[in-house]
Amino acid sequence: MVLKTFVMATHNKHKITELQRILEPLGIQVTTAELPEVEETGTTFEENAQLKARSACRATGLPSVADDSGISVDALGGAPGVYSARYAGPDATDADRNQKLLCELQDTPDEKRTARFVSAICCAFPDGDEITVTGVCEGRVARSPRGEDGFGYDPIFLVEKKTYAELSPSEKDAVSHRGKALRQLAERLREHGYE
Ligand code: IMP
Repeated sequence: MVLKTFVMATHNKHKITELQRILEPLGIQVTTAELPEVEETGTTFEENAQLKARSACRATGLPSVADDSGISVDALGGAPGVYSARYAGPDATDADRNQKLLCELQDTPDEKRTARFVSAICCAFPDGDEITVTGVCEGRVARSPRGEDGFGYDPIFLVEKKTYAELSPSEKDAVSHRGKALRQLAERLREHGYE
């Protein structure tokens, strides 16, 4: 069953892979398009997801889906949060951001390294209708990077005993912030009658 085809409002190839991997078995097709850059001026994940989805919908005239995500660390008062992508400056790599977070937490004991990954997903429709959902995965920041899979902060985000990067793609999707948000989105689309 195909519910709908959505334009994905992201240039991040890892997010595209995860969105396709999770949504296609739920009957939702996703496609890419050339899109204008959007300044993420929101103060919440939800606001930034809405800015990106609305901009893609305006540019293409097609239903568009956007994800805004990041990691919030309790010992850092919720940082980097919505600034996760910009945490170590504009030209930094994933490894630089992970190293910066590990340095900030070097004196933080295991029991205080609690953190959560958040994904806000917005789906914007040409008629102005909109659905926004949020998925959260609770975990901790590891002491050093572990695992080969994944992207971004995956090697240092622990869910119980394994980092996201040590999980297989299907294991990550089953527990991840993005997996939880996208399963809610599929449910909301059905309720809205997008079948
Ligand atoms: P944005 O949502 O494009 O603003 O990116 C948020 C930041 O969080 C980027 O640095 C991503 O690499 C990172 N990020 C988003 N989702 C994940 C994930 O599933 N695992 C690891 N890092 C992620």
